[in-house]
Formats: sequence, structure tokens, C-alpha cells
Amino acid sequence: MTNPLRSASQLPFEMPAFDTLTAPDYVDAVRHGIAEQLAAINALTSSPEDPTFANTTEAFEASGETLRRAVMAFSNVKPSHGTPEILDADGEIQALLTEHGDALHLNGALYARLEAVDSAGGLEGEQERLSGETLRAFRRAGAGLDAAGKARLRGLNAEISALSTRYSTALLAGMNDAAVLFGDAAELDGLSEAEIASAARAATQAGHDGGYLLTLVLPTHQPALARLENAASRRRLFEASIGRGQDGQHRTLDLAASMARLRAERAGLLGYPNHAASVLEAQTAPSLEAVRERLAALVPPAVANAATEAAVMAEVAGGVVAPWDRAYFSARVHRERYAVDAAALKPWFELDRVVHDGVFAAATRLYGIGFTERHDLPVYHPDVRVWEVSDADGSALGLFLGDYFARPTKAGGAWMNSIRVGASLFEERPVVTNNLNIPAPADGQPALLTLDEVRTLFHEFGHALHGLFADGVYPSLAGTAVPRDFVEYPSQVNEMWQYDEELIAGYARHVETGEALPDGALDRIHAAGLWGEGFATTEYLAAAVLDLAWHSLAPGEDPGDPLEFEDRALREAGFDPDVVPPRYRTGYFKHIFDGGYSAGYYSYIWSEVLDADTVEWFAEHGGGTRQNGDRFRAGLLARGNTRDPLESYEDFRGRPARLEPLLVRRGLDAAAR
Ligand SMILES: [Zn+2]
Repeated sequence: MTNPLRSASQLPFEMPAFDTLTAPDYVDAVRHGIAEQLAAINALTSSPEDPTFANTTEAFEASGETLRRAVMAFSNVKPSHGTPEILDADGEIQALLTEHGDALHLNGALYARLEAVDSAGGLEGEQERLSGETLRAFRRAGAGLDAAGKARLRGLNAEISALSTRYSTALLAGMNDAAVLFGDAAELDGLSEAEIASAARAATQAGHDGGYLLTLVLPTHQPALARLENAASRRRLFEASIGRGQDGQHRTLDLAASMARLRAERAGLLGYPNHAASVLEAQTAPSLEAVRERLAALVPPAVANAATEAAVMAEVAGGVVAPWDRAYFSARVHRERYAVDAAALKPWFELDRVVHDGVFAAATRLYGIGFTERHDLPVYHPDVRVWEVSDADGSALGLFLGDYFARPTKAGGAWMNSIRVGASLFEERPVVTNNLNIPAPADGQPALLTLDEVRTLFHEFGHALHGLFADGVYPSLAGTAVPRDFVEYPSQVNEMWQYDEELIAGYARHVETGEALPDGALDRIHAAGLWGEGFATTEYLAAAVLDLAWHSLAPGEDPGDPLEFEDRALREAGFDPDVVPPRYRTGYFKHIFDGGYSAGYYSYIWSEVLDADTVEWFAEHGGGTRQNGDRFRAGLLARGNTRDPLESYEDFRGRPARLEPLLVRRGLDAAAR
């Protein structure tokens, strides 16, 4: 049997043959791809010819094709459908990749040739960008170190990689284990009949003899907290959620602290004062100080707004509101003061309709692109749906995979992934995915969404567009391969279409009657829009501060007890974690301990500054028209990392971004006054 991943897929858009691929196939293709790339690099470095862009930089970019294909396919399957076999293979693959990355970056002959090409100058445009970015990655990976330094770096990389895999594995197992079992349906009062039936099914599936199992559905908050009538039930669910990683066999806290210490040591080896400084060098943010200053400016008004919200909730509740009751009373304020009952609106937001008449329709209006569902392509799980995306002129743009429902093999949260990218070097077309964790409806029932889930659909599709519109030459600069403090910008911008009047009139239709939203519902949603922003901004900023605290450790600095470290970092920055816990605590902060966001969680608000400024641009220029969409696509989405994204932004906007639109959006301007 040949492994289909060893060569280019013959399926449309080079879609991997997901239906036949096994965990050993992925491992085999990664091994094969590594060997192939090493051979190509050996040929490259032993060439008698003088180094040129074509025979060195571009040849290096082209050398890892099989490996890239295998890794992208695997990186998609692992979080979406991480069966025990796949998770086993992951440990092996990550170790192989870490070792291989070191072998590449610490190859002195290769580094010397790349450097010779870059310092010879004369490159322009995307070639200059590729050369600069490639070389920078080599330097940051230790290419400039002596032999002893390189050996130490290899060791550190291997240790960190192993720890992050263990962290993630423990977290997923802990999340499944932390599901809360209730004995009596009355304890779930407030949830819908469908949800209670679903909890009963989950209990049976998990091997319980009856009862109702509430699984933790998101990495952060548990939506059921807003509706459970029983305070004891809320407390159990809340404590299960925020206690993840603290005890027992799935404890993650020490893994996190060890990782932070090793990252600090690695930064020191590379000549940086701490890990955050080493990360920020490759970002659009100018420095750690600049990031700290921006966060520090936002903390006092956010905390003040949260306190105001707490006071309003205390009035409604008739006393101080405990953290586990916050979502519940927040929802009650929504209903009582703003007449918005989020749960009651769900019948207007049916998944299929939101996707077709909302998310896709917005993209058609702005960019002229079309969507045709395909049932002939292999997928890795029956829930996955595939659409072919066509450009305005009818030509094929790429494939979009929507994988919307939660399942035990899926990681929490929502994300976009690329399986193939838009890059002309190999005439490759993008194949991109969106993953969400919408609770699967009971058989035959429609999937009804919360407003948050609707927003997430638009958000993730913004990433998908960034991938689909990529039109550069080199895969490593394509689409979403931008600095991470820029990558959330296109997705955040796409959220603006959720409440576009024309679109919402089309996609928000009652699932049974087809009726539009009740009169005034939208106005009330908007009026209530700022309610909860104080808490939301505060808990986000707290998580961003916590991330920077872990990653500002100096080499050799001992953080001490992880929970005490967390508490101290938050209080010193002006938060009270007993009142507003950070959105992610150390025990389950997967973004930064196994998600590539270490010292990068600040980037959401960093890019939201650009987003809010862009929303203002659309408003100033007549809204979601084809003309505006085409300009945004050509100037920003299509560019990817083929040039400095902030330069692309300033060209598009005609000036650098301003902070004010963000302050107004989050209600922080009023608190600051
Ligand atoms: Zn995102």
C-alpha cells in the first residue's frame, strides 16, 4: 500500500484523501518529507555555484513540499478529530519536527548561503520579503550560535516541545474528565429540553448509569451558566471550569511553569532579556514596553466599567454576585433592563441559514465570490462539509471546509486552519477550514445558535477569506502567515457584517415560521451592546497581562508556586481575580502553552485597534459595497505577509491606525472621562 500523503493528491484542489489516511500514514509522510527536504538541502549547500536567490532562498522555500503537505493535513486533523491514534502520532510527529527544525536552522552552510544572498542586496518586493523573513527565522532559531550554544538550544527546544504536548494532552483529558454529572433533571432547570436530552445522552455515552452530563464546551466560559436556575449547579459547573489543570492526574500548572522557565532560558541563550522580547521582535508591535503601555492604559477604564456592571447586577440580584452567578445575572440584566433574552432569540439563528444567508452572503456582496457545496470529496469526519468557492469571474478560488459541531475528539474553541495555501510557486490553491464547537443538536433537530456563536462564524470566516484570497508566490508568506499580532485583524473586521441590516434581515429568520426578528429586537441588541463589555475587556486584559507575566521571566528566575505567581501578577496590574478571573487561567491557557500564542495574547486587542479603525473606514465610504470589498481584498487580504502588513494597512487607510474608535466601541472612552 502506498501512502497517499507521500505525493501530491490527485483530488480537486489537492484535497488530502482524508477518508483513507491513517495515523501511521501521517507519521510516515512526515518522516519521508523530512528525508526529502534534507536531501534537497544537501544538494543546495553542496552546489559549486555561487548562491543566488533562485538556487538558494527560493530553492530552500521549495524544498519542504512533501513535509509541508503532510504537516498541514495533520495539523488540521489533530485538533478537529484527535482520536487516540492521532494523539499518539502527534507526540512522535512533534518530536520529529522539533529535531528537523533544529537541523535546518542550525545548518551553518545553509545559513551562510542564505545570508550571502540577502546581504548581496538587489532583491525587491516579495523576493526581498522572503529573503528577510527566512533569515530572521534562522537567526531567532539560533543560527548565529556557536556549537555549544546550538547543542543547548536543541535540548531546550526538545524539552519545551515535549512539555507543550503533555500540557495539551492533559488539558483535553482534563476537560473530558471535568464534565459535571447531575443526578436529577431538576438540577438543570433553565436549559432547554433538547439540551437536557443531550446531557442525558452524554451521560450514557460516557458510561454513566443514567444522570445528566454537562460537558465543558468552550475553553473559557460555560454558556449554560447564564441559564441554569439552580445556584448550586452553576457553582459546580463554574468550579469545574476554572479549576481545570489544578489537581490530580491532569494537573497542568507545573508543566506551564516549567515551560515558562525554559523559554526564558532559551531567550537568554539567543541574547534577549526574556521570552516576550524574543517573540515581539517578529511582530508588528514595536516593543514589550509599547505593548505593556497599551494594556496599562486600558486596564483602569475596563476595571471601572466592570465595577459599574457589578453594581448593576448586585441591584438586580439583591446582593453581591458570586463569580459563578455572574453570567446568570448578566443575562437577567440583559432581559430586564434591555429586554434582550439571548436564549429566546436562538430560533432565529439556525446554523445552515446563518452560514448561507449571512456569512457567505456577506462575502458574495463584498467580493462577488460564490459557494457550491460538494459531496464528492473525502472528509475526516461525517460532520465536515465542503464548499467550492468561485471568484467573481467564475474561476475557482479554493475549497472551504466547515466543521461546526463539538465532539469529544475536538479541541475546545473555534479556529481556522489551512490545508493548502494560495501560492503560485506550485500553482497551489487554498483549502481552508473553520472549526467551531456548537453543541450538536439531537437527531433531526436544527442547530440553533447564540449571538456569540453567530459572531464566531463571521470571525472564523474572516480568517478563511484571508486564506482564500492569498495571491502571492511563496507558501511561507501566503494568506494568514502574517505576524500573530496582525492575524486576528481580518477576522475581527469580518465580524462587522453580523449586524449589517440588510444581511441580518436575510439570515435571521425564525426556524419554524420564517419570520424576521421581532420588531425592535435589533435596536435592543444594539442598546445592550455595551452591557458586559467592562467584564469582557477586564478578563481579556487580565489574560493578556498573565501571558506577558509568564513570559517576562528573566533567564534563571524562579516563578515560585504557579497559582501564587498568577495571583500576584494580576493584582500588581490592577485586577482583582476574585471578582473577575482572567479569561484563561494558567491551568488551561492553551493559547500560550500549546497554541503558538506565547507572549502573543495581547495581539487580539492590538489588532482590534486596526479593526475598529477599519470599521470606521467602511462607514465613511458607504459600507459593504463591492468597491469597498475589492479595495480591502486587494490591499490587505490578498497581500498576506508578502510585505509588511502594517505598511499594507497604512496604504489602505491612508494613515496609521487611531486608538479612538476602539475606545468608543468598548465604552472605554466614557469611563476614562
Ligand atoms: Zn481568530
